[in-house]
Amino acid sequence: MSSSRKFFVGGNWKMNGNKASIDGIIDFLKKGPLNPNTEVVVGCPQCYLSYTRENLPEEIGVAAQNCYKVPKGAFTGEISPAMIKDCGCKWVILGHSERRNVFGESDELISEKVGHALEAGLKVIACIGEKLEERENNQTDEVVFAQMTALQPNITDWSRVVLAYEPVWAIGTGKTATPEQAQDVHAKLRNWLSENVSSEVAESCRIIYGGSVSPANCAELAKMGDIDGFLVGGASLKPDFVTIINAR
Ligand code: PEP
Repeated sequence: MSSSRKFFVGGNWKMNGNKASIDGIIDFLKKGPLNPNTEVVVGCPQCYLSYTRENLPEEIGVAAQNCYKVPKGAFTGEISPAMIKDCGCKWVILGHSERRNVFGESDELISEKVGHALEAGLKVIACIGEKLEERENNQTDEVVFAQMTALQPNITDWSRVVLAYEPVWAIGTGKTATPEQAQDVHAKLRNWLSENVSSEVAESCRIIYGGSVSPANCAELAKMGDIDGFLVGGASLKPDFVTIINAR
């Protein structure tokens, strides 16, 4: 297990919450106690970015859950990395499976968004992962490598990227990948980074797992050598999120 990669736990609130429930999340995060060796970032709806940033302790990062690929313009309904920064936030989640599969975002668009977010100075949680039928057809490697190949040309600074492997069949379903299934893909992704980017990036890049992570399964997943943390949806809204943050 590498000690050079700081354990990273992201929360993805998705389209949930209001100021009252965000106050509750902020309370349990403040109470913790949180392992200081874990980097924590919460992904909140865009209308609550400023509110969350102003009320959360500084050491907990705040991410937008999406952004567009240019700084400004006639793109009704979109937000830019510049706006996220103006709200005081330093992170954005891009390529989440719900963006890909509910809103039809392509590998190419996601890659352009990642490129622009990095160029604008944000840090990015870049999500990839295969669907159930792709896993059942033994296409997992092919799918995640294709997603990586699309991302790579626009990633100018890997030190500001956390890669989230999130098998679509495990997101919000209660079906978690086993620690061995997740470790297998994470090790292959690290090897891909070594062969296609550099051995330094392969060694330093955090590869986190997402898909029905819970207080019950996080400790076993966190023991795997290539699992550097989690992206957590449903469980990040509950006080148990603290247990996941402290999984290692
Ligand atoms: C997610 O939203 O990225 C996610 C992994 O959700 P859940 O933990 O609810 O499966």
